Amino acid sequence: MKDVYTKAKTFFDSRQTFSYEFRLRQLKILEEMLHAEKAAIVEALHMDLGKPNIESLLGEWGFVVEETRLTIQNLKKWMKPQRVRTTRATFPAKSKIYSEPLGVVLVIGPWNYPFQLTIAPLIGALAAGNTVILKPSEIASHTADLISNLIAKYFDPRLVTTVQGGVDETTELLKIPFDHIFFTGSTAVGKVIAQAAAKNLTPVTLELGGKSPAIVCEDVDMEVVVRRLVWGKFFNAGQTCVAPDYVYVQNSVYEKFKTSLVNEILNQFSIDPEKSESLARIINSRNFQRLMSLINKDQVLVGGRGNAEKRFLAPTVLQNISWEDRVMQEEIFGPILPILKFENLDQAFNEIKKRDKPLSAYLFSKNKEVQKKFISEISAGGITINDVILHLSNPYLPFGGVGASGQGRYHGLYSFQTFSHQKSVLIRGFWLDIKARYAPYTAKKVKLLLRLLGT
Ligand code: NAD
Repeated sequence: MKDVYTKAKTFFDSRQTFSYEFRLRQLKILEEMLHAEKAAIVEALHMDLGKPNIESLLGEWGFVVEETRLTIQNLKKWMKPQRVRTTRATFPAKSKIYSEPLGVVLVIGPWNYPFQLTIAPLIGALAAGNTVILKPSEIASHTADLISNLIAKYFDPRLVTTVQGGVDETTELLKIPFDHIFFTGSTAVGKVIAQAAAKNLTPVTLELGGKSPAIVCEDVDMEVVVRRLVWGKFFNAGQTCVAPDYVYVQNSVYEKFKTSLVNEILNQFSIDPEKSESLARIINSRNFQRLMSLINKDQVLVGGRGNAEKRFLAPTVLQNISWEDRVMQEEIFGPILPILKFENLDQAFNEIKKRDKPLSAYLFSKNKEVQKKFISEISAGGITINDVILHLSNPYLPFGGVGASGQGRYHGLYSFQTFSHQKSVLIRGFWLDIKARYAPYTAKKVKLLLRLLGT
């Protein structure tokens, strides 16, 4: 690992990655790789997670294709030093912000979107002129092998390399003084990463998880609400960091919501969801067992059935849920949707605010005042109103968590900024040298300076 790092560091120090032309070429290689290897990527995701092809094409492959395209289109503009205003205190001068590459960066990926969440940070890291070491999740092993092979096939190993492995290998990697660590995974491991990085004062981006709430008010088009919720919750079998973790429904429409929800699950996944080709599988037996243990049979409204051998878990809705239930104590990260009910909005908002800040928060309501109140009162990584997940898919919006759900942001320009140092540069000439700023200080000089500064 030390050797891999030294090669990446030496290559970075040669400054070959700094030019616009070099960066653009790498992004075009990545684009070419994505198009040429589309079938292999979809296949690996199917082997790891039984992902339906459309989910792989939209949520993994298509996502990084779009991100690469946007970065190629904007790279020149983003790299340009940005001129900013100069103040009276520094006049006459020019002030500019230069985006400078950080150095060697480490990207650690999770297993749930194992391709997207390893490759999307790579796009920003290359665009910003860094050299990169990727550590994909060992749990999605087919995708990890594929990433490793593709990176070796398409890229100079001094520029991008893959290190494979789990806890032991990552622990070793974390001893290296990287210039940035970009981690996507659980809050618990996020703390391990932050502690290890602190030893080398390495800055970190932590893309973590949490329990993302979805509030449903009485003034909604219920059919549209349940369609969107069922899609967002059961996409990738609920193994999505921004999936609605639970639904919080206004009392007056609780029964109507439940009936519509059950109907919609039947519409999308049929009476026998095990035969549906639209539902991914649980990543491994450990997670399958964990999810099964969250299901209290007495609370099952629909679903609840699993097949351990096939790692299939039916879309499941749990009713009569209270905050004390086990399913409300941890991020679910699977196809289980608990429903709670609330009397008034203040009560609902207060319950959410008492808990860790989630990665996402969702509100369904037509009322503009309620929407404003939700946006202003609920602190979350990101919010979508009257839908779920979609704020993540807009590359013009920064994506990241807050508090326990993470720190830092990426996508589009924000990725470029995350992987760059914004260096402040002030350039002066030699004319106009106001002597009043120099010692020996006198009351007269202070008065003059304050007048010049307009203070
Ligand atoms: P995880 O934290 O278990 O693993 C993530 C990575 O860390 C893997 O590459 C793994 O090998 C490594 N790792 C695990 N334990 C480690 C340790 N002790 N020391 C060093 N490295 C270690 O996460 P996961 O199970 O792969 O992913 C699920 C979690 O990720 C969920 O909480 C989910 O919400 C979160 N997530 C967040 C985002 C986001 O964008 N914010 C996206 C996807 C997943």
